[in-house]
Amino acid sequence: MDLLTEKWLPVILSDGEITKISLSEILNDNVRDMAWPRADFQGAAWQMLIGILQCTVAPEDKYVWEDVWNEGIEEGQWNEALQALAPAFQFGEKKPSFLQSFDSLDSENGPIAGLLVDAPGGNTLKLNKDHFVKRGSVEKICPHCAVMALYAIQTNSPAGGVGYRVGMRGGGPLTTLVVPQEEEKYPLWKKLWLNVLPQENAPTAAQFPLIFPWLTATRTSEKAGNVVTQENAHPLQAYWGMPRRIELDFHDTCQGRCDLCGENHESLLLQMRSKNYGVQYDGWLHPFSPYRQAAKDPSAPWLALKGQPGGLSYKDWLGLMLEREDKFNKMQPAKVVSAAGRRKNLSLWCFAWDMDNAKARCWYQHRIPLISVSHPELFRDALNKVLVLASEALSLLRNGLKNAKFDKPKEAKFDFSMVDIAFWQETEPAYRALINALAEDPQRNDALTHAAVRQWERDLHLYLFHVFDRDALTDPDSPDEILLRQLTARQDLESSYRKNKARKDVLALVE
Ligand SMILES: [Zn+2]
Repeated sequence: MDLLTEKWLPVILSDGEITKISLSEILNDNVRDMAWPRADFQGAAWQMLIGILQCTVAPEDKYVWEDVWNEGIEEGQWNEALQALAPAFQFGEKKPSFLQSFDSLDSENGPIAGLLVDAPGGNTLKLNKDHFVKRGSVEKICPHCAVMALYAIQTNSPAGGVGYRVGMRGGGPLTTLVVPQEEEKYPLWKKLWLNVLPQENAPTAAQFPLIFPWLTATRTSEKAGNVVTQENAHPLQAYWGMPRRIELDFHDTCQGRCDLCGENHESLLLQMRSKNYGVQYDGWLHPFSPYRQAAKDPSAPWLALKGQPGGLSYKDWLGLMLEREDKFNKMQPAKVVSAAGRRKNLSLWCFAWDMDNAKARCWYQHRIPLISVSHPELFRDALNKVLVLASEALSLLRNGLKNAKFDKPKEAKFDFSMVDIAFWQETEPAYRALINALAEDPQRNDALTHAAVRQWERDLHLYLFHVFDRDALTDPDSPDEILLRQLTARQDLESSYRKNKARKDVLALVE
């Protein structure tokens, strides 16, 4: 199968029709979005398409970027650029085959479900923990879904036993892509183009084996130190990482319905082989992910942010958009986010697998506003203070609840995870209103901005006591000593909140 001419990409058109198109048709204005049957494939497909644009028609500088945004890419130019990729975009038994090992693997065949990040692995099956994805639910996959599954596993590759290498950004990285706020108004190609970076030199065919690692013998990693870096490979390999040595079995196939997309196909894939000690990546800064480094240690490695239980909350947003530093970490946003600069009316599409080592707990995604401001340092300083106060307020609330509920609160164990999750979710609308006001007027000259800061602080204060009264003062008929303990805890919460330095810092922003 030639991935350039085959109609293998499911898309949704502007009239709502879902159909399959080839890569050469992807720049058509009628194509609105991809339409993959799984959310992780959808995220993978966007990354793959941006990678293709980046390797074929990347603009020399931001002026050319702007011309393309306004005028598009000519069909002839696009087809010619795609043709150059032909050697890397073949998929099938004949090598080289897209995202699969160039060398044949002498391993046993395993079920094709091994291509899915959330497929239950050996241990999960043994321990009967496959409650999230049931064993046996995916047994046959059509070649179209298999290509995207390959891209998704190579991109997200979680830890998977001795010598099974994680993806270039670690297992289950957080991806942040730039999208328009009014997504429905734009063709797919424009949404992809927002994530294409200026690049001075186009890659040459001679560089392809450094960009598409399946075109040549795998640089394996049995020996320590045999790592692939941005320096010894090509920076564009970021889009085509291949930590897993995989070979799909194109020999034993069957006819029928694909377990992922439901379409009929005459040769569904049933089996795959994989082998450990694939490419070990080291030291990459991937353009789609935000990174953090331990504060106060400039020699510490930059690590891509990962998916985490509960997903993102607004305390994480700032580090996804602007360089930032707190007590623990330095943070830098994804390159595609920094490159969006002061462009208006954009959002960030953030998505990741939350992995517990090899086990996928949950896929989550969020769309959050991407703020463009004239004085990023003033904006960041103000929001840092706001976020410190929000965190302190939450910690005071937890303490208050503990003091109210327990006789010996210091020794008491109490699970606050529901209080935490609810706090960040329920105080988000007030935070959104505040960041909009501060983004409009980062110098805080306007009376409206002052009012917005004070209003946010009042809302936070009200929220604390709303939750405290609801959760701690549950029974007015409690014995006196318990009522007294609860009321004392309430008074302490009030006074420690009022005296809190972070609160004073926030109010001082608008004095
Ligand atoms: Zn399928």
